[in-house]
Amino acid sequence: MTQGPDEAQQQSALAARLSAIDERIADAARQAGRDPAELTRIVVTKFHPASLVTQLHALGVREVGENRQQELSAKEAELNALDVRWHFIGQGQTNKAAAIRRSADVVHSVDRSRFADALHRAAEGDDMLDVLVQVNLTDDAGRGGVAPAEAPALAEHVLSLPSLRLRGVMAVAPLDEEPASAFARLRGIADELRTVAPSATWISAGMTGDFAEAIAAGATHLRIGSAITGPRPERG
Ligand SMILES: *Cc1c(COP(=O)(O)O)cnc(C)c1O
Repeated sequence: MTQGPDEAQQQSALAARLSAIDERIADAARQAGRDPAELTRIVVTKFHPASLVTQLHALGVREVGENRQQELSAKEAELNALDVRWHFIGQGQTNKAAAIRRSADVVHSVDRSRFADALHRAAEGDDMLDVLVQVNLTDDAGRGGVAPAEAPALAEHVLSLPSLRLRGVMAVAPLDEEPASAFARLRGIADELRTVAPSATWISAGMTGDFAEAIAAGATHLRIGSAITGPRPERG
């Protein structure tokens, strides 16, 4: 594959942003007394073309996040030969659960029993799907995620569905609160869930603006978009 000068320049800018973020992640981990190797950095590529995932893959990225089913399905189909893990991080519609399950390796956004049930019904053969329970850390019930008080019951429901493997919890920090205090609440919920599901050890938290706080609060999976990809293109 030959690259024009523009593409080569774009690729080196991408490489520079990626390594700068990885350095900041490693610094934040060390400051929190944690080993950077225990963190998984997911690059969120939503609204960007599939070619960006190919470029990221060439730079060693193997964990990619998408928040819309159609975009996830299209990219996963186009890039089927690429060994990347697809993380679905968006609000999932029950009637899209089968399509999500076909394309995603991990679903971060299980926020209600009906969606979990639909993901389970879409299982083919004995394949297992990794899922996280998304927790709403805001007071706005319209935001994605289950209310903190209902997270244990949802987790128990997920545990009853044999084709789903409960991995942990996911959240987005509210806009009107210090991320550190929001992520501390998430940590408490994660600790609580581990008493019913000892292997649910993942905490998916931390985006471009708050990944250092998430790391300090125990996040294991960071979902970072624009700091690595550059600004997202306008959606059509
Ligand atoms: C877009 C998105 C991200 C990444 O956001 P950035 O601020 O660009 O890093 C992370 N998590 C979710 C759920 C998202 O939708």
